[in-house]
Amino acid sequence: MSSRIRTVAKPGSTRVNRTGAWRSFRPVFVHEQCNKCGICAMYCPDGVVVKTPEGFYIPDYDYCKGCGICAEECPKKAIRMVLEEK
Ligand code: SF4
Ligand code: SF4
Repeated sequence: MSSRIRTVAKPGSTRVNRTGAWRSFRPVFVHEQCNKCGICAMYCPDGVVVKTPEGFYIPDYDYCKGCGICAEECPKKAIRMVLEEK
């Protein structure tokens, strides 16, 4: 048997698949607590956190899967994970 790693979806396919519908929790970015460090954007595995013209960061909810990594890594605890309303 081949030792190659197999994946369910091709890497980088998040943008094609609009994975936001998979989400149970949504990250809410609290700009009053944000120091604009950009760590959330660096750690987001899907690259869906973008910088606003004001220097803050926001997720693209069409593609954010709600994994919570951004909230975990934020040094200012400026991202809250809230239950998604269906
Ligand atoms: S990691 Fe937290 S403090 Fe840094 S830019 Fe993102 S939300 Fe702001
Ligand atoms: S919850 Fe996950 S997918 Fe969504 S913005 Fe944060 S790190 Fe990215």
